[in-house]
Formats: sequence, C-alpha cells, structure tokens
Amino acid sequence: MLQQTSKGLKATDQHVITLLHAVLQRGQASRAILARHTRLRPNTVGGVVDMMVRAGWLTESAPGSVDAANSQPARPTRGRPAVSVEVDGASREVLGLALLPHRLRATRVSLLGKPLSDPVEVEVDAEERLVELAAGLVSELVSPRTVAIGVSSPGLVDEARMQLLFSSTAPQLPGLSLAAILEAAGDLPVALENDLHALGDRWRLSVPQTDGQTVVLVSLADGAVGSSIMIGGQAADAGCVRGGNELGHLQVHCADRQVPRCYCGQSRCVERVFSSEMAQQLGGTDDSVDGVLVGCLRRSLESGLMSGEPRCSEDATDPARWMVGRLAEAVANVVNLVRPHRVVWVGDGPVNALMPQLNPVLSQAVVGGLIPVLRDRVVFEQWCPHAAGQTSCTALTAGALGIAMLTGQRVPAAGKVSLRGEVHAG
Ligand SMILES: [Zn+2]
Repeated sequence: MLQQTSKGLKATDQHVITLLHAVLQRGQASRAILARHTRLRPNTVGGVVDMMVRAGWLTESAPGSVDAANSQPARPTRGRPAVSVEVDGASREVLGLALLPHRLRATRVSLLGKPLSDPVEVEVDAEERLVELAAGLVSELVSPRTVAIGVSSPGLVDEARMQLLFSSTAPQLPGLSLAAILEAAGDLPVALENDLHALGDRWRLSVPQTDGQTVVLVSLADGAVGSSIMIGGQAADAGCVRGGNELGHLQVHCADRQVPRCYCGQSRCVERVFSSEMAQQLGGTDDSVDGVLVGCLRRSLESGLMSGEPRCSEDATDPARWMVGRLAEAVANVVNLVRPHRVVWVGDGPVNALMPQLNPVLSQAVVGGLIPVLRDRVVFEQWCPHAAGQTSCTALTAGALGIAMLTGQRVPAAGKVSLRGEVHAG
C-alpha cells in the first residue's frame, strides 16, 4: 500500500518524478540502469519502481528487452532476471485543457502523451464565462485515473496569482483569475503555462534525447508567430511575468512599408508582417483576407520566386519573399542571441501544409543573417505535431505540459505530484 511511504513521503515523491523522467527519456530500462542513470540507491529504485508499477505509472516489460537508449540487450544478471520497465500508456491519465480565443479544448492523454479520448470542444460565448466553463470541463473529465492537469493559454500569465495577465483568450479581462479551475482540480497537481512552452514540452516528449540541448522552437501561423526557447530541457519562461518567448512581437526593418498595427501596441511586429492582412496590402489577389498569406506563399514557392536564398536584409519585390525575409530577420536575431543547437519550425493551421517547401527557404534565409561561426553549427528542422488530417492539437499539447510537470520540468501552480492509490487490472 502506498500509505507505507508516509515516512519520508517528500523524498519518495521526488524519486517518482526523477524515475518517471528517466524512464520516459530511455523508453525502457531495467532497475539497475535506472539506478545508474539517476544515481539513486538500487534498493530505493527497486522500492519506488515497484510502487509505480502498482500505481499504474510504469509497467514491466519482458525480461531481456532492449534498453532503448543504448540499443543493447539488457545485461543478464545472476538471480532475478533483468526485468525492464516502461511507462504505462493506459492505466493513468493526464487531463490537457487548452484555453483558446472563443473556445476551450480538453482531452485525456496517457503518461506517454498519446490521446486516450477524442478532444472535447466547448464554445465560449462570452469572456466572462471562460473560467466557469473551463472549471466545469475539469470537473466533468477528471476521473479516478487522472494524476495531473495541464492548462495552457496564449499570452502572459501570473502563475503565483493564477491570473491571465494579457491574452487573446480573454482580451477584455486582463488579470482574469483562474482560481475556479484550481478548485475544480481538487488536490490534483495543475500546471499553468503559455501555449508555446506547452508545445515545447510536447516536442521534448517526442524527442527526449535532446534534453541537454538549447532549442528554439518557432510556431508559424497566419498572423501568429511564437517561440519557445528551451535551455537544457527547461523552457526559458522565468522573468518578471511568465509567457512565451515573444518572437512575434520583435520589431523588424520594414523600410517605408506600412505594417498593420499590432494588438500589443507596436507597429512593426513580425507576426503582423507574416499575416494575410500584410499579404493583401502587398498585392495579394484573393478577395477575402482569410488565406491570402498561404495563397501568396504557395504561389511564390511554386513559381520559384523564393529560390536563390532570400536574404534577411533584401528588399524583395515579391510579397512572399519580402515577408519571409522579415520573418527570417527576426529569427536570425534570436539565433544570434541564443546560439541554439536546433531551430525547430512548426506550422500551425493552413501554414502547416506549406512547411515542407517553406522550411528550406526560411532556414536558408535565417542562415544568411547569422554570425558566420554559427552557420554550420545550428541545425534547422521541421516538426509536425499534428495527426494526419489535423491542423491543430492544442488539448494534446496541454496534456504534454501536465506530463512535463510529472517529470519535474514544471513546477505545479497548485497541488503536488504524488502517486495516488493503486490501479487494479481491468
Ligand atoms: Zn506586437
């Protein structure tokens, strides 16, 4: 029974966090390998792993399974066979809740970050009802199997006061309190974070061996550009307020071109440059504003107007080439500042379909704006988090935030991580 751990419970909870992280990073591992990797005593690892198996967090794999990180068979030992453990992908759940403009999305995910249910979507007819509806969704979807809740939102948050300071989710209600969501969560640990950092958590979950690297993840959507900077497996989110790394509001060189004014109050923000309004202003031909950016980019990519490495500083006549050049200028500034190992492009919404063509063009343009010594060192890659046919998966991303909290990469806004009860088969 788990009650036996009441003595030294704190240490045990920390061991649970450490061991879940170690197993997730390696895919599968024996207790001996976990002890070596975490530098915990073998007896401690054995005891805590046994509790985690009984509580449905880990499951035992067949003896002699491959240790994923080393790609080597587990070494045979005398006596007890080397049974590996892996994360249990079915018994326990994390609830992911995404606060979005005019709607909420929630879903249950496994401790491996895989969906366990179809996402539930709720329309928010008035900003004043956002928190009440979100709390209702939490009450409805939490089950005895739930061990954590991840709540994501665009914009800036005050985690200590559980407030949305400035967000497109509730633009008329700055400082909106999310306390009712915590009340609905009861004693479950809740992580609250900017949606881009949650996306970074999801990326790290899918590429766990990159934990020691510095990564700039860049999300590109029509009129919405954001980034998460991750240093040594941790999001760079601590500052005077918590938020994403606001790449979209970097100011770029626009010569005499008028850029639509940004809601942040500035007038040369890169996310207003990379938008359908800007594309239309520069000569897009579609009738409605929606989709002009994607149409403009596609025409330019297909007609070869983007070829020949668009440069950050270039004053191109092709609208798409000019917009990509300005976006590259902003990203190059970030890369020069941060010196990451990797830049990861993520397309959201209709931009996602263009990423295979846009990635090389954009990456080359960024390289053109880098300090020479960085040019061969930074790796550019594309990542598509969406399932086939999907263009967005925000609730799943919020779930990854909850898992990041369970593995010690996020501090709970409320509650604390602990094993709860035992899961019985069936
Ligand atoms: Zn702005």
